[in-house]
Amino acid sequence: MSGCSRLLILNRNIYLIKILITIIWIYVGYRILSWAIKALGSRSAGEKLDRGVRKHDINEMAKDPVCGKYVLAWESRRTTIKGKHYYFCSDECQKRFLDRS
Ligand SMILES: [Zn+2]
Repeated sequence: MSGCSRLLILNRNIYLIKILITIIWIYVGYRILSWAIKALGSRSAGEKLDRGVRKHDINEMAKDPVCGKYVLAWESRRTTIKGKHYYFCSDECQKRFLDRS
């Protein structure tokens, strides 16, 4: 009888350890999954942004109409007047252009 109950305790301990290992695996899997979803999510968000901005020829070099400097369209200040895009190297140039027109 006593041997039987000892075996039961041992079995219960193994059962608990198995549950613990399962929980750890679920946790690790969850962390990996959430990390992967985050990585995928940020990438698709970046693609979306890229696609959205491409409408404005964002990867092209554009000439600042005020100071004549060439700027990368995607990192410049933009103004659209009557459907035409203007790109500026700085807020100052943009302001000067808007004051002029
Ligand atoms: Zn400028």
